Amino acid sequence: MARERLYLFDTTLRDGAQTNGVDFTLHDKLVIAKLLDDLGVDYVEGGYPGANPTDTEFFSERRPLRCTFTAFGMTRRPGRSASNDPGLAALLAAEANAICFVAKSWDYHVRVALETTPEENLASIRDSVRAAKAKGREVLLDCEHFFDGYKANPKFALACAKAAYDEGARWVVLCDTNGGALPHEVERIVSEVVKVIPGSHVGIHAHNDTEQAVANSLAAVRAGARQIQGTLNGLGERCGNANLVSIIPTLKLKAEFADRFDIGVSDAQLKTLAHISHALDEILHHAPNRHAPYVGESAFATKAGIHASAIVKDPATYEHVSPDMVGNRRKVLVSDQAGRSNVLAELDRIGIKVDKDDARIGRLLEVVKEREAIGYAYEAADASFELLARRMLGKVPSYFDVEKFDVNIEQRDNAVGQRVTVSMAVVKVKVGGETLISAAEGIGPVNALDVALRKDLGKYQGYINGLELADYRVRILNSGTEAVTRVLIVSKDETGEHWTTIGVSPNIIDASFQALMDSIIYKLVRSGAPA
Ligand SMILES: [Zn+2]
Repeated sequence: MARERLYLFDTTLRDGAQTNGVDFTLHDKLVIAKLLDDLGVDYVEGGYPGANPTDTEFFSERRPLRCTFTAFGMTRRPGRSASNDPGLAALLAAEANAICFVAKSWDYHVRVALETTPEENLASIRDSVRAAKAKGREVLLDCEHFFDGYKANPKFALACAKAAYDEGARWVVLCDTNGGALPHEVERIVSEVVKVIPGSHVGIHAHNDTEQAVANSLAAVRAGARQIQGTLNGLGERCGNANLVSIIPTLKLKAEFADRFDIGVSDAQLKTLAHISHALDEILHHAPNRHAPYVGESAFATKAGIHASAIVKDPATYEHVSPDMVGNRRKVLVSDQAGRSNVLAELDRIGIKVDKDDARIGRLLEVVKEREAIGYAYEAADASFELLARRMLGKVPSYFDVEKFDVNIEQRDNAVGQRVTVSMAVVKVKVGGETLISAAEGIGPVNALDVALRKDLGKYQGYINGLELADYRVRILNSGTEAVTRVLIVSKDETGEHWTTIGVSPNIIDASFQALMDSIIYKLVRSGAPA
């Protein structure tokens, strides 16, 4: 049987931009559009030209993209002609390959929100599609509130969809705007729609208000729809839109879909999925969701010893797909619940060859347990675990010694009489035979210490120039005067690799210092710096 083509439409830059706390700049939009283009989605909806300056500018020139670059906007207003509607004119003027109109398809909304007649709503759809076609654009119609509208008045909802299709719209997109539809309802209603409009012209736009947006999208495809709209990481208003980062691997890796459909994302592009998901988080300054399906740090992480020992024998025992297919990796967590097999699996992953009966393995496991008892959490700090393991197996050179450091916080008036708090750190480091002293000011004491520590490492400086701190997390364990501080630092380098290190101490500066040191030493080990 010939495989059918299924199209992916991304609306991260339009519907995703409605997310609470998300405010894309033009530069963000350009970067994200490129990510989506590289991933292989078919359509990128860039925004709503005419509605705000950023979107208007985004559509002011041709963007060098392979995908069908799409502008979004409303059909002509009721009571106006298509040629006398400034909103429609701005949309038609946009430098886009396609125009996606949004129109009402629920008679209740036509009456109450739009305050017009069903006939005028249909005429507005027809006129707008015709005007965009005349401009040479591919046309899509988002039928707003389609599922609620269909439940209330199926005849009218279908008439709206059919009006656009008959006028030559390439796609009629059924929107679950309030996000309340359930998969079996979507499947039933879409199967009715495709009796009137061929499925190869029907799309689904699902919101996640009952956490079914992905399931609803797949249900629509089962019923015959051939375009899926969604966003990266499920970004979107309220509970978000259908998450393309979950949908894409499901379409590629689950036989029910993979055997029947082709999508624009190749196997090689699929391997970049985790990276693209994390790149978006980075742009938004979001911490990545560790538990995100397929791409989260924990998506292929196994903690219990019994699972770990089976995974070492054959990963398929506890994994639904192979993590490398989506650019993720298997992780066997080393923690106080870990067995020998977790430790062996993790050593194998990081490339430390050791005999499974080596006595040092048992000793390493004991040290992990002792340290976790006082607050360390190695399952969250892969790089610190790797260093601990390498040290116990005698494989970490002693690159440099910090002989002493001093961190000073001072509150005073500055030159223009403002009250300021200044942090300053001085670090004395011995590298080879050389003693180096560096001083730095910072935004806070930890920042000052970090800057001073990385300012001059003598012959090792070249190895750490690309090192950056990506995230810094502090947690106070216990309570009262016995409190202990746990610091986790996420670092990254010029190759895009991320790693996490940990420090624990009653003193936050000391805990931070441990995590900073581990981060630097890990980078030196990774870069193959000589002893
Ligand atoms: Zn939406």
